[in-house]
Amino acid sequence: MLTYTYISKGKFELAEKPKPVLLHERDAIVKVTLASICTSDLHIKHGSVPRAVEGVTVGHEMVGIVQEVGNGVKNVKPGDRVTVNVETFCGECFFCKNGYVNNCTDKDGGWALGCRIDGGQAEYVRVPFADTGLNRIPDTVSDRQALFVGDILATGFWSVRISEINEGDTVLIIGAGPTGLCALICAMLKKPGKIIVCEKDEGRIRFVNEHYPDVLTVTPDKCRDFVLKNSRFGGADAVIEAAGSDTTFSLAWQCARPNAVVTIVALYDRPQILPLPEMYGKNLTFKTGGVDGCDCGEIISLIKEGKINTELLITHTYPLAKADEAYGLFENKRDGVIKVALEC
Ligand SMILES: [Zn+2]
Ligand SMILES: [Zn+2]
Repeated sequence: MLTYTYISKGKFELAEKPKPVLLHERDAIVKVTLASICTSDLHIKHGSVPRAVEGVTVGHEMVGIVQEVGNGVKNVKPGDRVTVNVETFCGECFFCKNGYVNNCTDKDGGWALGCRIDGGQAEYVRVPFADTGLNRIPDTVSDRQALFVGDILATGFWSVRISEINEGDTVLIIGAGPTGLCALICAMLKKPGKIIVCEKDEGRIRFVNEHYPDVLTVTPDKCRDFVLKNSRFGGADAVIEAAGSDTTFSLAWQCARPNAVVTIVALYDRPQILPLPEMYGKNLTFKTGGVDGCDCGEIISLIKEGKINTELLITHTYPLAKADEAYGLFENKRDGVIKVALEC
């Protein structure tokens, strides 16, 4: 079967591999219908994910049809249309039982698919712990509507959940890339008073203005003053930092009001400075890290009810065989790209 594979630092290639087989009774084999390219795939390509294994099939955001399941799988059966979770988790360890599935202690726990074990930019993928990693897609929801459930949408949803947003709040989202946009879409469900999106790219600001006219937008250089003017208590009540540039971490806490929650979902290239003397007395709460992707069932219900729509983020679609071209476009942010779907 055709796969898109991490060969070595800086090099991804189309490669023929044997179709995966069940290795464990809790595995499923999924025929991938649609996969997407994620910024984390680029991090692998550029060698900034040390755990990524050379030779692995990349791709960790996909939907498909269950082909085959092991004897221990109860929740899905062959023929089911499913979303695949970016995280592999056993459902039984301390972390899983508390909803912290990103830190599942199984050897394949956390982000393994498309990083340490073969992922979904391929015709088929083996999914360990299929009962926790797969969620059924209702007939009325299309593959394109469900494509982001297992990764960026899960991340946006989780970031909003842990940010403790209340009705009427001013929410600042830094970064209108795919994850920031998913956070925006999920934040709207909390009925905040104002959402401010801070973004430096003109095209992305235009995208937000066009699709979410009630959302305020601002560039980073004007962000602090703008947030101050548009908040009730000297800063945003909640800040979600989804940009990850060299200046956005400090921008995030500087724009927060005292006692706010500052949630960091961005992945930085370098360490960031936490100037505790400067922030003393501001009494902020920082929440950081990678998604605990255990809200996928709820997210799918919200899509079905028409309350979440991320289909408009798919700006380009390519067949898997043209993955090189698709990556070139995504990596160089050409042609107003937000997300690329690969037909597998
Ligand atoms: Zn991702
Ligand atoms: Zn676990």
